This record gives sequence, structure tokens and C-alpha cells, in this order.
Amino acid sequence: MSEGLAANLLHIGGQESLDTMEAKSVEGTMARTAAETTASYAESKLVLSPLSQLGWCTVASTTRFLISPRTDAQAAVRRTLEALEVDPIQTAYCVQRHTSKVALLEGIRRGWHNGFLVIPECDGLVACHAGQAVAVFTADCVPVVMVDPLKRIIAAVHAGWRGTFHEIAKNAVRQIIEAGGRPSDMRVWIGPAIGGCCYEVSPELAAAFREKFGYLNGVQAFVRGRFLDLIRLNVLQLASCGILIDHIEWCGFCTKCRNGMFYSYRVEGDRAGRIVTLVVRTK
Ligand SMILES: [Zn+2]
Repeated sequence: MSEGLAANLLHIGGQESLDTMEAKSVEGTMARTAAETTASYAESKLVLSPLSQLGWCTVASTTRFLISPRTDAQAAVRRTLEALEVDPIQTAYCVQRHTSKVALLEGIRRGWHNGFLVIPECDGLVACHAGQAVAVFTADCVPVVMVDPLKRIIAAVHAGWRGTFHEIAKNAVRQIIEAGGRPSDMRVWIGPAIGGCCYEVSPELAAAFREKFGYLNGVQAFVRGRFLDLIRLNVLQLASCGILIDHIEWCGFCTKCRNGMFYSYRVEGDRAGRIVTLVVRTK
């Protein structure tokens, strides 16, 4: 890693188990704890995922100090690749539409332009080859990165309330299994997203979530009155697919609490830029 890259990075170390996540969320201190530990990195351009330590992939989310609100999608992804000092052969992202669709890059031969592929009407991507990268864009919605270290499969998912309601994360797990991966091997990292501390919804929507996901353990933890915890709900969905809780980690940044660092649609509305969450299979 070059000195320039090191200076741009915000490292969030340590594994958050769901129990720890819950304990911290209950106290409402999770985002604050992360903020305190990183106060000296006030203008970091990237949040680097510990998954990058696996050695064959690079995983990160951008802050507002790297991508301006006016940057278009492809320029934003190029900028992120440059900042991370990685140069994949093929990079794909979706025209996101809050669907629960996840596409497998394997076999898609048409539509590539200068190493980029834009897939319409889709909100998650899975790739299995060295030199491939996938990206999602969010501003409050939940960016979920999944990797299978044994098969070196990578995936990125955009899960807003609609995607979470329709369990897009589970669809991504299905595609990873299709590609030869196993839930018990998978590792998950969740980038900056609006936390249960800030995501207030209508009573009707909260009730719909409570009803649909009442069967999952911990419904009280992800729907508290009118506050939805989409991050925790994605974690529970992934755990119900067989992914170990200890293999799932959130970076700890709520986009609304930490709006000085991350774009938040709830705070900025249509003026909000986008966080790029990127996963590159480098080897
Ligand atoms: Zn918050």
C-alpha cells in the first residue's frame, strides 16, 4: 500500500459480533463509538473494509471527500478505483431500481464498453473471476458486500427498505451458492448506512416489516416503534441463510448521524451525492 493510499483510508478494525452490535445499538452508541475512534481521520476519503485483509480482494466505501454530488456513476467508480490503487479488467454496476434482483456476471459477454458494464433494473451483482469488480451506490440505503474466501466469489448489494423487505441479500446468497460458494464460508461487510437510530418510517411500513419478519429472532431489535434497523434486518436475513454471525460486520457509521462524512438522502434530499461501495477481486 502506498503512503498516499494509507493517508486516504479510514480503517475500521475488529469484528463486531451481532451480540456486540445489539448491545451497542441498544445503548445508541454504536455510531458514536466509531466516530470517536476516528475523530482524527475527519477528511478520510475511503472506509476500508477488514475484508481487504484477506489478501485477494479490496473492499471499501467512499466518503463525501472523494466523490462530489455532481459526479456521474462511471466517473465515481473510476475515481474510487484510482483512490484504492486497483485496476480491474472488468467493472460492473447496476442502474439501481430498488428491486430484489441480483445478477451473476459469469456469462455476460455483451454490453461491455472500455471494461465497464452497466446492468439495467438490478440491485446486486456477483462475480467470480480475478480482475473483476462490482459496485453499488447508496445514500442511506444499506450497501452489503459478501465474499466467499474459498471460491473467491465477490458480491455487492444495494438494500434500501424495498430491497430489504424483498430480501435481496438472500437472493445474493443464492447466486453465490449457484456460483459454487457456501454460506458457512462466506464473509459479509456492511458499509455506511442509515442506522436504526435515525431511520424513522410510517407506522404502516413499520407494521408491515414487523408482520413479515416476525418469525426472525430479534424482531423487537429491528423494529422499535417507527424506527427500522435495516442493517440489523439484513444481518438476520443473512444469518437465516446459514452465514455465521461472527462472519458479518457493519462498519459502524450511520449516514445520518455522520452526515459530515457521508451522504444522507434523509438529510440532504435530492442534493445528496452517493457513496460508492466497491469490491474488487484482485487475485
Ligand atoms: Zn443515526
